[in-house]
Amino acid sequence: MDVYVPDHYRVLGVAVQADQAAIKDAYRKLSRVYHPDRHNGSARATECFQFISGAHSDLIDPQKRLHYDRLLVLRDPLRLVDDPRAERALDVLDLVVRRFRKKPEALPGAARGRDLRVKYTVAFATAALGGTVFVNVAYDSACSDCAGQGTREPEKNPVCHVCQGKGTVSHGLRREHSQCGFCGGRGAVMLAVCATCRGVGIAHVRRDIGVSVPARAASGSVLRVKGVGEQPALGTQPGDLVIDLEVLPHPLLTSDGDDLVLRLPLTWRQALTGGSVQVPTLEGPERLTLPTDAGTRREIRVAARGLPIANGGRGALRVLLTLDCPGGLQPEQVASVLALQDQVGDDRFAAVRDYEATLAKLFSAATV
Ligand SMILES: [Zn+2]
Ligand SMILES: [Zn+2]
Repeated sequence: MDVYVPDHYRVLGVAVQADQAAIKDAYRKLSRVYHPDRHNGSARATECFQFISGAHSDLIDPQKRLHYDRLLVLRDPLRLVDDPRAERALDVLDLVVRRFRKKPEALPGAARGRDLRVKYTVAFATAALGGTVFVNVAYDSACSDCAGQGTREPEKNPVCHVCQGKGTVSHGLRREHSQCGFCGGRGAVMLAVCATCRGVGIAHVRRDIGVSVPARAASGSVLRVKGVGEQPALGTQPGDLVIDLEVLPHPLLTSDGDDLVLRLPLTWRQALTGGSVQVPTLEGPERLTLPTDAGTRREIRVAARGLPIANGGRGALRVLLTLDCPGGLQPEQVASVLALQDQVGDDRFAAVRDYEATLAKLFSAATV
């Protein structure tokens, strides 16, 4: 709906035939209500007072009034036919003590607030064990400081005499309805506005919402927190907060069923003598003691360090051991390692033997 800038006669609340005395009287009366000094310089009061002073200055001078009337007839040819509503307009203003009782109404078709949908990236450990995360959300909601009314002192906001509280005015030959420019369509002139929402009745809310992430949550999970989201007006049902969860991959751990898997590279010393190494777990770093024959093992299972299981237990942390080999060895260094291997014998490489045996079985089976 477009905004109709009210005409001077309506602003002063006088009939189009009003004489100078009536215009002066209306101006004096309205100035007492809207003078910005009476409203701590409120922006709305200043705006209204500018409307009123402009109307007064154009209508009190006969020459200016003639000029203005010509413009008015161009805009609304029937306008200079007396408007019976005008005489009642100032009576309406006399009722300013009437409280502004217009309750905030829910927008049609918006009885329930819209859902807020946000993406949230959760750490691997939090997603695995479950826990509470805080999601920062921003949304519009009925201002709680003024109950969505835009003011905490409705008695200070006079009923608009231009639209007589309707919020719309009709004009032109086709009697089109437009939002009243004097009160901004509120029906009351918001002289005392709520500081929190600046009179809009809607507050922009930004806050952290605690969201409970279930154990073993995966990327793509959708979490819903009821009643956190847009609320078109106080008393209507707020929307929900809907979270699209993304789980950040762990740099060292992966999951496999109920277990977590860690690939742990060993040096020759660790492979041959064991020792203590640091490993990551969901709870943080832990020390793991390697057996002295670590190099001959493929896997070490650490019980109850895996994913939570429905029955209350935990899967295991499976540490897959691999032997690291230093790069950039000098030829004589390679020769001494190979001399050691010759001395030990190729048969002692158990994993390699197993592999070769399995391979041989695979191909002989395939050829049968
Ligand atoms: Zn109005
Ligand atoms: Zn407010």
